[in-house]
Amino acid sequence: MKQIHQLSDNLANRIAAGEVVERPASVVKELVENAIDAGATKINVNIVGGGLKHICVQDNGHGIPQQQIALALSRHATSKIKCVEDLFNIHTMGFRGEALPSIASVSRFSLSTHTKKEDNAWLLKSEGGKHQPIIPTALAQGTKIEVNDLFFNTPARLKFMKTNNTENQHIKDVVVRLAIAHPYISFSLLNEGKEIVHFGTAQGELMEDTLPRLASFLGRGFTENALIIEGSNENIHLKGFVSLPTYNTKTARQQYLYVNNRPVKDKLLMGALKSAYHDLLATNRHPVVVLFLNINPADVDINVHPAKAEVRFKNGSQVFALIRSSIRKGLEESSQVVSSTTADKALSGFKTPEYAPIQQTSFIANSSQTIASPRHSLDITTAESMQMQAPPKARAFDEQVDKSIQYFVAKKMGAAVAQIHGTYIVSQTENGMIVVDQHAAHERLVYEKFKQQILNNNVEKQALLIPEIIEMQQCDVDRLIKRADELAKFGLDIEQFGLTAISVRSTPAILGEINAKQLVLDIVEDLRDLKKETTLNSKIEEFLSTMACHGSIRANRKLNLDDMNAILRQMEETPNSAQCNHGRPTYVELPIAEIEKLFGRR
Ligand code: ADP
Ligand code: MG
Repeated sequence: MKQIHQLSDNLANRIAAGEVVERPASVVKELVENAIDAGATKINVNIVGGGLKHICVQDNGHGIPQQQIALALSRHATSKIKCVEDLFNIHTMGFRGEALPSIASVSRFSLSTHTKKEDNAWLLKSEGGKHQPIIPTALAQGTKIEVNDLFFNTPARLKFMKTNNTENQHIKDVVVRLAIAHPYISFSLLNEGKEIVHFGTAQGELMEDTLPRLASFLGRGFTENALIIEGSNENIHLKGFVSLPTYNTKTARQQYLYVNNRPVKDKLLMGALKSAYHDLLATNRHPVVVLFLNINPADVDINVHPAKAEVRFKNGSQVFALIRSSIRKGLEESSQVVSSTTADKALSGFKTPEYAPIQQTSFIANSSQTIASPRHSLDITTAESMQMQAPPKARAFDEQVDKSIQYFVAKKMGAAVAQIHGTYIVSQTENGMIVVDQHAAHERLVYEKFKQQILNNNVEKQALLIPEIIEMQQCDVDRLIKRADELAKFGLDIEQFGLTAISVRSTPAILGEINAKQLVLDIVEDLRDLKKETTLNSKIEEFLSTMACHGSIRANRKLNLDDMNAILRQMEETPNSAQCNHGRPTYVELPIAEIEKLFGRR
């Protein structure tokens, strides 16, 4: 039998390094966090070779006194907490006292530091955790830590490193994440001597100050398409920026979550985001968000992950609910706002046709009006001749359009003037025009109305003349029948029909004529993923999406002006009507000013 013995410090540090120092970006994170904790107002980071060859983090913080330098590099040594109670009242980024010894154990490491009280600076060098004596050096007040040849003594870890480019990307991400939460500290990041991040210090309100940093990192597109949201209850305060549903991305990478200014990746928080946007985005699209959650340190445990990237909330459901409802409220209040990128996309689609240059160049040189007049007169003759040939019905339609404009042009969604391609409603507004995707809009309207009916417990049912019998596996029959009462509240009446079939007696009236079999089979799929104790009502959005998808399809349906105006008026009253259930916009707006630009009138 093998003997049990205490691991040497160096070995213990290396084991800890396995968790704390996953890659170069983890080193940068720990060192920058230490600089923030040291009260620095200026933090400069330099990297070479993806951070594997060289990382240097220099700050102008309070430094480390000479007698404590060795201590700072020993395991479980920290200036940030003293007793167990402190662990539940953490106001610093660090507290575990593990980073420096871990990093030093897997690199060629040097630390220079200079406190205000001491006359000169001190330098400690170490290789793979073996320290050399501390010697005097030159440095302004603050601390400079250099990490060379990271993982030189742990080749297995080195093998896992990605390309320098990938590592650089991770490092940049770490620096920016921290910088976003600390606008009053200036940050720079140099890669091989080239500055890739530069944030000067800001003054003023936190939220507004974050904006320039966000804009330079996430792009102006984000800041122009984001809402400021805010919410609080007795224990938690939430502030942040969330993108309009029409501004979304393929991955959840651009979600920046902070708990007490600490960047975290937390499943609960991400779940709350998902839930807030659930019926506004397709499942494979993600909003871009930057959220700051401030919570009493006693109500959150940050000591659950060695790199402190995850947290555990004392009252998770409260946090979840606050995030969800605050975002939801913000989105609903702005539900009529379509992201500007959508409008930009639309506009760029309205390209001016490339017309042949006009022959009589002399005309152009003489007077620009002369160009316009022949074309203008042509327009009039065409219009006149058209009117003369137009059947009487068209005149009636013109009158209807005039009426429509007279009544509705001042409304938000404007006055319907035409339907094109059997699919799009064109409306005239006071300041421009709107094109509505009637199918997407209708889907949204059905969905919201249905949801209202369910919440008010007055779902209209459409009884089937002949009950529809649907065959399925016995376990699926059981699943459905167990939920029969709940399903009835959604307008779907079902009964068991033998061991392997059910019969459907009614469907939700709002969905119109639907394929009941397909609907029920889709519902079975949803129920499969649902835990027994979860009610359908708690999943109402997901569940409704499934059902609303079966609602009557309205693309390629001819609408008259009254139908169109009715849809526009409903859209004005319906929350979230600017996008369909899958996050696609339901309409685009073209301001007259932009139209004028297209025609060179501005
Ligand atoms: P922790 O941050 O969890 O306390 P570290 O190993 O990261 O543990 O650092 C150990 C200690 O060294 C810190 O508690 C702090 O007192 C000191 N220290 C580390 N970096 C700096 C710095 N840049 N400026 C001043 N003190 C520092
Ligand atoms: Mg630390």
